[in-house]
Amino acid sequence: MKVLFYPVPAHGHVNPMLPLFQELVSRGDEVVVHLPREFESAVRHTGATLRLLDDALCIPATISGEVAPELTQVLPLLLGVMCEGLRATPRLLEQARGEQADCVVYDPMAMWGRLIAKALPLPRAIFQTSFGLSHSPTLQAALKKDMPGLPPPRALRSILELMWTSEVLHWRHGLPRVGMRDAFITVEDLYFIPVPRSYQPDAGNFDERFVFIGPSVTPRNDRGDFPLEQLDGKPVLLISLGTTPLNQRPDFYKACFEAFRDTRWQVVMACGKGLEPASLGPVPSNILVRQRVPQLDVLQCARVFITHGGMNSTMESLWHGVPLAVFPQFGDQPLNASRVTELGMGITLTAQNAVDPKVLRDTVERLDTDPRYRTRLSEFKRELREAGGHRRAADVLQRYVTARKGQRQKAA
Ligand code: UDP
Repeated sequence: MKVLFYPVPAHGHVNPMLPLFQELVSRGDEVVVHLPREFESAVRHTGATLRLLDDALCIPATISGEVAPELTQVLPLLLGVMCEGLRATPRLLEQARGEQADCVVYDPMAMWGRLIAKALPLPRAIFQTSFGLSHSPTLQAALKKDMPGLPPPRALRSILELMWTSEVLHWRHGLPRVGMRDAFITVEDLYFIPVPRSYQPDAGNFDERFVFIGPSVTPRNDRGDFPLEQLDGKPVLLISLGTTPLNQRPDFYKACFEAFRDTRWQVVMACGKGLEPASLGPVPSNILVRQRVPQLDVLQCARVFITHGGMNSTMESLWHGVPLAVFPQFGDQPLNASRVTELGMGITLTAQNAVDPKVLRDTVERLDTDPRYRTRLSEFKRELREAGGHRRAADVLQRYVTARKGQRQKAA
């Protein structure tokens, strides 16, 4: 079969899909992925075919000149990308019509993917890269808490621009109107969720359309020149706040320097693309700082991870049985922080604690030395593997497309 994929052009959204691309390709399916050039090598490594999107569709990894940007500053950037995606939709739809594909799979945040999927007479599926949102009042309430009241003027302007772009598409091209809310409520007959069912809030509300495949963690071939060979002595502590501009937190990184200088830890720190490691001042000799690190390789030998609690980072850490100290910023991150804390696999750091060197040090020591964390983690590790990941997703998708084809042939 031939499958068209429309991911959101951000690492946190593309990474969890890569193993499925590779799995389908290895089964002889044709996989066509729509992303900007930034993701070219990751996609090609899976054997999938890349259809290039404009670079303007890349979610920016930095906000220049901003230190500790607020979500309200990041939101206009996200909305700007959504607008670009909408503007590209008529061209992408025409391209998709010429593909002779059998199925469309899209990230619910990729509005263009949703419009294309709905416009084609093909089976369609959603690949969520976080918790299932549509049937979880707990999650919807948590997300609303991030955005109390009227958005600030810049964000409001972006929302209006998005609405206007959608309106123009509707009148000019007959496409249905879309908004950000659709990302939360749209459901298809097949809906993949990359966590095990036991981890999903309000799991009982999710019917058989939702397939809880759990995470898919496979090698990414992204080691570059990172000196992994230096991690063979002391216990390794990984520190990263993910790939969005909210990782521009020099105060936090400097507090980590203070916390772990001259300790038994070998620290690996990813400070994000918005900061130069040199701008953080003298780096202690037991700390390796890079803008980005090969996270999966480092997790293989890490004992503790201080993370922002992005869904991928959380699942990747749990997959490797590494306890987490979670300093959440927004979206699903506070929820991941509370889930791993209540499940006994990590500790939540408040904004204040996350810049307090003593609390950071004590938290990491506790996670490493209290055996209850690793006991719980090893049980959960099993559960993650049993969820089936990319192999189960490929099985279910192939069966779904075959069944839909059969139904159509019968109806014809
Ligand atoms: N990542 C990485 N190296 C880094 C930082 C992040 O490989 O230095 C990867 C990480 O393994 C994960 C993704 O980028 O797969 C980040 O996704 P997540 O959902 O954790 O956070 P986001 O960046 O979307 O906030």
